[in-house]
Amino acid sequence: MQNFWAAPLNILLMIDGQQLVKALDNSEGIILIAEPDGTIVFVNKTFEKVYGYSREEVTGKKTSILKSGFHSNKFYSELWDTIKSGKSWSGDFVNRTKSGEIISEKASISPIFSDNNVDISGYVAVKYNISERKKLKAQLEIKEQLFEKLFENSPVGIFILEAEKSEGQIIDFRIEQANLKSSVIFNRISFIDQKLSSVIKIQNIQGLLRDNKTVQQGEDVYEWEDVCKGKILEFKLFGLGGTQYCLLATDVSTKVKMENRLKDSEAHLRELNETKDKIFSIIAHDLRSPFQTIIGFASLLSDGIEEKSIPQIKEMARQISNMSEQTYKLLDDLLTWSKSQLGQLKPVPVKVDGKILVDKCFDQLGMVAEKKGVNLKNEVPEGVTVRVDKDMLEFVIRNLVHNGIKFTRKGGNVRCFSEVSENEVLIHVEDTGIGIQEGKQDRIFSLSGNLSTNGTSEEAGTGLGLMLSKQMIDLNHGKIRVTSEPGRGSCFTVAFEKLSGE
Ligand code: ADP
Repeated sequence: MQNFWAAPLNILLMIDGQQLVKALDNSEGIILIAEPDGTIVFVNKTFEKVYGYSREEVTGKKTSILKSGFHSNKFYSELWDTIKSGKSWSGDFVNRTKSGEIISEKASISPIFSDNNVDISGYVAVKYNISERKKLKAQLEIKEQLFEKLFENSPVGIFILEAEKSEGQIIDFRIEQANLKSSVIFNRISFIDQKLSSVIKIQNIQGLLRDNKTVQQGEDVYEWEDVCKGKILEFKLFGLGGTQYCLLATDVSTKVKMENRLKDSEAHLRELNETKDKIFSIIAHDLRSPFQTIIGFASLLSDGIEEKSIPQIKEMARQISNMSEQTYKLLDDLLTWSKSQLGQLKPVPVKVDGKILVDKCFDQLGMVAEKKGVNLKNEVPEGVTVRVDKDMLEFVIRNLVHNGIKFTRKGGNVRCFSEVSENEVLIHVEDTGIGIQEGKQDRIFSLSGNLSTNGTSEEAGTGLGLMLSKQMIDLNHGKIRVTSEPGRGSCFTVAFEKLSGE
């Protein structure tokens, strides 16, 4: 028997010492036996492992060497009072190891009674190192707090859901938890125990899951976009294990608005660039070449008019007149266009009589039509009125009639007529000309992609007229459209709201 068994502890004497030491050493618990005054008489192997003291080092020392300073004197006096009174004490210790490390223990200390069952001959403490468990618990608490904070402060709506199944298929979800942001996004406070379908207003959850499934890192994820309460929301749904799911809802309305604004401004920039290209091309070509022709014929005339025959002189004069007419129209268009670009086209709405206006345009273009052998017919009856800017409507009708003449062969007709419905007044400019291919019809009102074509007598153009006409009709809150059949003719229609009381 070793020295430390010299302690007068009856219990130890009851069984073979070595066997007892072995048994206590094999225990996973920390075992410490002390005399009534706290002098340590035995510690087991687990104690040595946890505290770093050898058995010999602590035997004969007071249990107070294990104190960490964490507990108050009151804590120890209550402990001693309990065990001295013959009762067991259990609680948590925070102690210090040999190396100074602080450890937590769950301890149970019981008195050992002498044979007379009255005197206490010592105490046995059985303790478990719970430092790891405590650390893990603390970490878990930190994680839980972190999750809680993330959940509540997330800029994304988060729902924790329980899948509701029927015949193995998810038919809906029950909302178990929803964060603060969800309330903001959906404008409501209570979600708990509600069906997801009623919150996001989607009845066919099954169809939604079927159509929006993607696989991310081997897991099924469902992503879709929807308009809820006037907001554009992006949803992402994924499994949390078992029948639990998590749904993230993000309000992307502002993002989408910004994207659309960007797209608009990109289109606007593209249009500005096309406008710039168009100006350069008009100045470089459309405006230069007619002047070259005019100057050429004029100098031919002045250089030897005496030697030229009357028909020759007539032809040259005709060419000069044609070119001047075209160039004048071009300049006129350019001027109007520059006004529109500078935002100076401001409509002044007045009551305009359709028949009178068409008559005026026919007057201006009578010579052009006559020269080409195209008949002009004004079938707009008297008294058809619209409220628009007079000059703008005149510009539009003149352009439409001019185009009608330009794209109609000799003997053909350009006819203006009107229709008055319950709400609208329509003015049509119809020709029996070459018509416009279907694919081109929706492009002729804009500058982009509009290919100007020469008229049936090779009259040149710039592609500005219809674009400007549309701008003016828009400014007057009207509509312009075309129906056309290649080889048979075209019909352009301008429509305005009917004047009240007309
Ligand atoms: P421009 O006549 O100077 O080219 P517009 O903007 O007036 O410019 O017309 C654009 C194009 O639309 C024309 O070049 C032509 O190809 C087509 N177009 C316009 N009006 C008619 C019409 N009445 N018949 C056939 N094609 C037309």
